[in-house]
Amino acid sequence: MNFHILTLFPDMVEQGLNTSIIGRAAGKGLLSIEAVNIRDYTVEKHKKVDDYPYGGGAGMVMQAQPVYDAWKSVVERIGYKPRTIYLTPQGSVFTQTMAKEYALEQDVILLCGHYEGVDERVLEEIVTDYISIGDYVLTGGELAAMVLTDAISRMVPGVLSNQESGSTESFEGNLLEYPQYSRPEEWNGKKVPAILLSGDHAKVDAWRREQSILRTMERRPDLLTRAELTEKEKKTFGIKEG
Ligand code: SAM
Repeated sequence: MNFHILTLFPDMVEQGLNTSIIGRAAGKGLLSIEAVNIRDYTVEKHKKVDDYPYGGGAGMVMQAQPVYDAWKSVVERIGYKPRTIYLTPQGSVFTQTMAKEYALEQDVILLCGHYEGVDERVLEEIVTDYISIGDYVLTGGELAAMVLTDAISRMVPGVLSNQESGSTESFEGNLLEYPQYSRPEEWNGKKVPAILLSGDHAKVDAWRREQSILRTMERRPDLLTRAELTEKEKKTFGIKEG
């Protein structure tokens, strides 16, 4: 899968995504992550990419021309118009389900805004999806683009060394994951739950399922209405239909 990130701060994106699991997957050729510097595409002689907003008001707006030409350079290179995501607090809030869906694409273009945002006319021209990473305002879209790239990449086959770890995690079936423990058996006076040392896989699975439900009830009750629960589980945990 190929990520093309249109940004005014290519170093930030490249450095941020060049480590650990994502960096390793890119090294193996499972992913490619390119940062396209929007400033390289301005035709303005001082390399300016922003200007004052029409109608007045605070801040600067990224101009349409360099954004459009940066986008077009990717489209011409790959030979088709891929899904183009504008990272914006005005978008749909990104979820694990979306991460899985985007992981099926061959290419995605991620457009990072800065300052007060981007001239609306170029957004209308190139953007297919408006995505937010949460109800707060960042200074730029770079961190948001990195969040999407990381979460989507993990869903690309082969990126996680153990595919299992992608399918039993939080948000699978709209439940949070159960608590995890590692060695030693006792730390700071706290013991690992005995059932995890029992070697009885069925009991371990049942305990983990129960913990997932309890944790979701406690921390994210909003997820429970969409959780995949059996009738018996709903009764045991007193969960009413959403
Ligand atoms: N004036 C814009 C508004 O009120 O909707 C906010 C602009 S923000 C300061 C600058 C850029 O940061 C945006 O163009 C967008 O690319 C990015 N950004 C800010 N918050 C974001 C969020 N929650 N999710 C995704 N991108 C965000």
